[in-house]
Amino acid sequence: MRPVSLLLAAMVLVAIAPLPSSAAEKIRVVIVDGQNNHKWQETTPILQQILKASGRYTVDVATSPPKGQKDAMQKFHPDLAKYDVVVSNYNGEPWSDAFNTDLHQRLKAGTIGLVIVHAANNAFSGWKEYNQMIGMGWRGTGFGKRLKYVDGKPVIVPAGQDLGSGHRYVGPFEITLRDAEHPVTKGMPASWLHGRDELYDNMRGPVENVHVLATAFSDSAKKGTGTHEPMIWTVQYGQGRVFHTPMGHDVYAMQCAGFAAVLERGTEWAATGQVTIPLPKDFPTADKASIRSKK
Ligand SMILES: [Zn+2]
Repeated sequence: MRPVSLLLAAMVLVAIAPLPSSAAEKIRVVIVDGQNNHKWQETTPILQQILKASGRYTVDVATSPPKGQKDAMQKFHPDLAKYDVVVSNYNGEPWSDAFNTDLHQRLKAGTIGLVIVHAANNAFSGWKEYNQMIGMGWRGTGFGKRLKYVDGKPVIVPAGQDLGSGHRYVGPFEITLRDAEHPVTKGMPASWLHGRDELYDNMRGPVENVHVLATAFSDSAKKGTGTHEPMIWTVQYGQGRVFHTPMGHDVYAMQCAGFAAVLERGTEWAATGQVTIPLPKDFPTADKASIRSKK
């Protein structure tokens, strides 16, 4: 090889080496679980299976100590330097200050991404940075602002107005895209039917640097709020990317091909800022949900 070719080859290597954005290089994911008011022992393997099936990831699981083991929890600190993105399936006791600081500093610097699934947004109401990271979560009405969509437009509701967080409606629901050009949603139908799940409403928080990709109508005729609730959103946290969906209550909800696509594409986006994973052929349509079997 001539010196110029060698130099070019070296430059290409240097250019791609630090980024997992090359399709050949696997994105390193760690799923954090161990405490949750949901069946994390059942749902973590589904999250893992969805991510692995895309061929884009290596997936580790970091399981915290169970409730009530303060000393062990102080030592719980996955080595974040080994990962490109954290997927949280955790809703439980506080992590150590050291782990919290490590996560928010790396996220702020943009050296790691964060993905929030369902009840992970119930966690850590007293951790200020976490509330910033997730944008909004399951909190009381006085905790913070709420974002809803009225007549197709986003409306900020002040703390104390409307209800506290809940899931007044449970069942299948339609997802309506609010940004069809974002890498995660690009190519999805303008609306698509998600299989039975809890439709989280009245999420509360600082709602800063939040970008809503999709909402779902919580029908007041079915005990819902009568407005569109944010269902997929991103948060810019310093240089870091957070991807958040309150979907995914249980194994059934996660078997929706739409949920799987949202998770695998959202995780890739949080890690790299890009999406290379195509939409699956069995993606739901406006009037037909697509539930995969357990196998
Ligand atoms: Zn739930």
